[in-house]
Order: sequence, then structure tokens, then C-alpha cells
Amino acid sequence: MKIAMLTRNPRLFSHRRLQEAAEERGHELEMINTLRCSMNIASRRPEIYYDGSKLPKYDAVIPRIGASITFYGLAVLRQFEMQGTYPLNESVAIGRSRDKLRSMQLLARDGIGLPVTTFAHDPKKAEEVMSLAGGTPVVIKLLEGTQGIGVVLADTARSAKSVIEAFRGAGVNILVQEFIKEAGGTDIRAFVIGGKVVAAMKRTGAEGEFRSNLHRGGSAQAIKITPEERSTAVRAAKSMGLNVCGVDMLRSNHGPVVMEVNSSPGLEGVEKATGKDIAGMIIDFIAKNARDGATKTKGK
Ligand code: ADP
Ligand code: GLU
Repeated sequence: MKIAMLTRNPRLFSHRRLQEAAEERGHELEMINTLRCSMNIASRRPEIYYDGSKLPKYDAVIPRIGASITFYGLAVLRQFEMQGTYPLNESVAIGRSRDKLRSMQLLARDGIGLPVTTFAHDPKKAEEVMSLAGGTPVVIKLLEGTQGIGVVLADTARSAKSVIEAFRGAGVNILVQEFIKEAGGTDIRAFVIGGKVVAAMKRTGAEGEFRSNLHRGGSAQAIKITPEERSTAVRAAKSMGLNVCGVDMLRSNHGPVVMEVNSSPGLEGVEKATGKDIAGMIIDFIAKNARDGATKTKGK
């Protein structure tokens, strides 16, 4: 197969691993810098140019589009989809998962466990939003934050109110969530490929940190998850429409709750913690499923 990977950083661990795994299996994998693609939006001839020359037709495309270039990256991915190239994750599904509010609405619609979450436009509603979230402590999140940046724990109503007002004053959208204290600074990432959990790890925040992101100094360990956690992760992936994703959950008193579904999950933490060849599993999934035009949405 001829596979394209949309990425700006070919040297990243995850990207090198995917390339190795593809080559080991006799496929060709080309890294394409998303921002260097230009598109010809011509009637019935969806073309993509790369540094001025037309890109060939690929059998599959692996989108590894960074959060900061979601808009342009998804447009490039749609162009591949319109050519009939099989996307590991579809542009529409990635778009859903990049918006925390939209994803939570979809997960809630499908009956998946979530932390109690509220959303309001008007900072004057700070008190109302906090009480809907069950009162302090609350977690306040930027709608488009990643890697734990823009996630704040407010212990008192006074601090929550000022954080909400500050964020709203800066013109950004936020969610206010019940704080799942019993999770103890630990979350679970279930790695889903093709409707199955293939690996799971527990991430624990650095000392004194309630956020367990590896980017915030957290550490990872392999764990065995419960059948309920497994089914929550699989249902969350399905509800987003993602073939490959990392589902982040907290162990709450009311069962597993999903915090977010990551459409470009990093491989380093999970491969090192579990010793599994996740990159190989992803390439095998592509080889099994890539068919010309086999995308559900074709970017629509
Ligand atoms: P990001 O997308 O930036 O990683 P998350 O929503 O995943 O943001 O939050 C980052 C970390 O903060 C999580 O991994 C978790 O450890 C902690 N966290 C987030 N929401 C809650 C919550 N409602 N209760 C307890 N801890 C939380
Ligand atoms: N780097 C990953 C991404 O681009 C996030 C990894 C993580 O949250 O552990 O989505």
C-alpha cells in the first residue's frame, strides 16, 4: 500500500513508529507536511499540490493534525477523502472530537458516563453554572485546550467566579465540571483501534498536581481495566466515529466517566507502559480496512 501521513513533525516518536511499522510490513509511507499542501477546488477533480507538484493517489491517509492547525488540516484531509483515499480517522469524526462541548453532547446523547458538566455564555451566570455543576470544587476548562493547559481546579466559589470571569473576559469558551476528587489525580487512557480496546494505561499526575497529562509531568503504567470501562471506551469511540483514538476516563463514584476522546493519541507513553506494538496494530487495521472510497462521510 501507499500511505500518506499528514503531519508537521516527522521526527515525533509516534510518527517514526508508524513509519517503521508500515515499512516492516512492506508498505510505503510518506510524511506530508499539512501546511505545505495546497488544494485545487475544481469541479469533480479534487487535487492536492505539494510544494507545487500534484500528489499521487494514496491508498490510505493517516491524519496526525495538531490542534493548532485543525481548520486547515481538516480541509486537506477532506480533499484526500474526496479523492477516495481511505482515512484512518475521518475528518468529520476528528472535527467532533476537537470540540470538547460537541463531543460531550454526543457522548451524553449516547448515554455514556460523563462528569456533570455545564456550559453558559454569560459570565453573569457564574453562580448558576457552578451550582449546576454541583458546587465547588469545580474544574473549569477551556473548550479548546490540550495537554492539560487551560484546565483549572477552583476550590472555592470565590476563586471559581474569578476564573470564570477572567476566561469569559478573554473571550474564550469554557466548560464547568464537577471535580472527580476520588480519581486522586489519576486517569485512565484506553487505546481503541477498530472498536476494541487494545491497550490501557493509568496516568498519575506529578506530586501536588490534579492533572494527569504526561505533558504536565505525569507518569504512565499499564493497567487492566474493568469490563465497564472497556465498554465505555468502545462506545465513546463509536459515538465520535473514530477508528483509532485514546479515550480518557476517570474512575468516579458513579462509574467510569469520559473526559475526552483524543483523535491523535500519542504512542510513546502507551507503547512504553504496555510493551505493545500499537503502531503495528494501526497499520494492520489500515491494511485490513482501506478500500477506495470506503469512507462513511467523505468529508460531508
Ligand atoms: P486536556 O484535553 O487539556 O488534556 P482534560 O480535560 O483531559 O484536558 O484534563 C486534563 C487532566 O485534568 C485530566 O487528565 C485529569 O487528570 C484532570 N481532570 C480533568 N477534568 C477533571 C475532573 N472533572 N475531575 C478531576 N480531574 C479532572
Ligand atoms: N500528543 C497527543 C495529541 O496530539 C496527546 C497525548 C496525550 O494527551 O497523552 O493528541
